[in-house]
Amino acid sequence: ELRFAIMAQLREKGIEVPFAQRDINIRQIGDLRELPELAVSWPPAVVPEPTLVALNDTLARELGLSLSSLRSDAGLAVLAGNAVPAGAQTVAMAYAGHQFGNYSPRLGDGRALLLGELVAVDGRRRDVHLKGSGRTPFARGGDGKAALGPMLREFMIAEAMHALGVPTTRSLAVVTTGEQIMREGFVPGAVLTRVAASHLRVGMFEYAARLPDPAVVQRLADHAIARHHPAAAAAEQPYVALLAAVVDAQAALVARWMLLGFIHGVMNTDNMTISGEGIDYGPCAFMDRYDPGTVFSSIDSAGRYAYGNQPGIAQWNLARLAETLLPLMADDADAAVAQAMELLEAFPARFRSQWAAGMRAKLGLHDEAEGDRELFDDLFTEMTALRADYTDTFRGLAGVLRGDEPAVSGEWLARWRARLADEGRAVADVAAGMDEVNPLYIARNHHVEHALEAASGGDLQPFETLMGVVTHPFQRRPEWQAFEGPAPDEFAATHRTFCGT
Ligand code: AMP
Ligand code: MG
Repeated sequence: ELRFAIMAQLREKGIEVPFAQRDINIRQIGDLRELPELAVSWPPAVVPEPTLVALNDTLARELGLSLSSLRSDAGLAVLAGNAVPAGAQTVAMAYAGHQFGNYSPRLGDGRALLLGELVAVDGRRRDVHLKGSGRTPFARGGDGKAALGPMLREFMIAEAMHALGVPTTRSLAVVTTGEQIMREGFVPGAVLTRVAASHLRVGMFEYAARLPDPAVVQRLADHAIARHHPAAAAAEQPYVALLAAVVDAQAALVARWMLLGFIHGVMNTDNMTISGEGIDYGPCAFMDRYDPGTVFSSIDSAGRYAYGNQPGIAQWNLARLAETLLPLMADDADAAVAQAMELLEAFPARFRSQWAAGMRAKLGLHDEAEGDRELFDDLFTEMTALRADYTDTFRGLAGVLRGDEPAVSGEWLARWRARLADEGRAVADVAAGMDEVNPLYIARNHHVEHALEAASGGDLQPFETLMGVVTHPFQRRPEWQAFEGPAPDEFAATHRTFCGT
């Protein structure tokens, strides 16, 4: 009833609840009505002074939302959590999760709410979700708030990922709330509006599977099949097919991360989606110098989520998902375990084939050939020895084809050129193709840190410039020269990002 109180307040101020043109046409939390055990109706917190900091015009159009409505006071009220669109019912979703390998039976949306769902212009259903919208019954000791810096980081990294062609949640908006919140000192509070294929996570299955009623996890699985992997419904064993589909989607996702030198940083099971979209960009980063042991998160002292561990962690997380599906997979427990094991053991090969296809594209190669594996491995051995910048090494190879100075050894280059010669395509075409998959601009940590620091101090210009750069990663622009190339050494040595903020 707090929700109605807020709406009444807004009406008093003459603010209509927004999205008149095309309402955030949120079906009453959509299909989640089938899953009352996994969602708690809960209102967002009222905040004193919402101010729009970032709005993703392109995404708003894709969603069919009116930009002027979003920019109006009424739209701002929704993006801040001060108003809920007519017909919508905000909910906190329940989930558990393995965090750094340890099971937490009850995590859930402690500071986030699902605003609802809408059908985008492309006909696909999307979740609209607020992060930083106040304490919920899952908040435990947390304040339910989010700081501006981390919300802008998530806003930026998600959109950079999208521009790089990687499946990801999207960012619609960031608003500051007018509050100062306590972190390492007082910082501006903010709310991120996140858009996702859904917020179903491995951790939600872990939570559902441990409820006394076994029907819940089955309803959740049916919901996930219908929403994300509809082909599984027609399979002889739908729940085996669901697991297979999630294994494939995650193998593809993590392969894309690895190919870009991306480190998610906190691959807990509550941060792994069923859709195969990347989610929750907290202590994440693109690595500069190639080193498989690279860790950025200050809370990951053991290096569990280091760059080179990510495929293995994905497989480990998928095993946690598989455990929850076992009772649905077959009546006979041994048979279910055997089927799950077969799919889980296939993960490395699925990952490897996705990754190898991506590597061939990065190297301008078309066809699979004997010796590819050695060609790839030897390049990484050289990059390690040279402490080479990951992004620049790959981008630079197309330059080598155009006559630039090579950064790797003549021996490796000779083998690579021989492979290209075998395929017989025009060198200019090969180089152009490589430039479409090897980014020139990534969200490098030193630029991101600078932009977030400036934004927290009230200067949004560096953030806006960097957003432009990282959402156009492939085409060189002279005015963006300063965004090419790695960080100075002294920055690389000290940099860490923080999560849970
Ligand atoms: P995250 O690190 O954002 O993936 O969050 C992990 C868990 O901690 C989730 O259950 C969050 O809802 C919860 N959490 C993180 N920060 C806060 C906060 N400031 N207040 C309440 N819950 C939080
Ligand atoms: Mg999370």
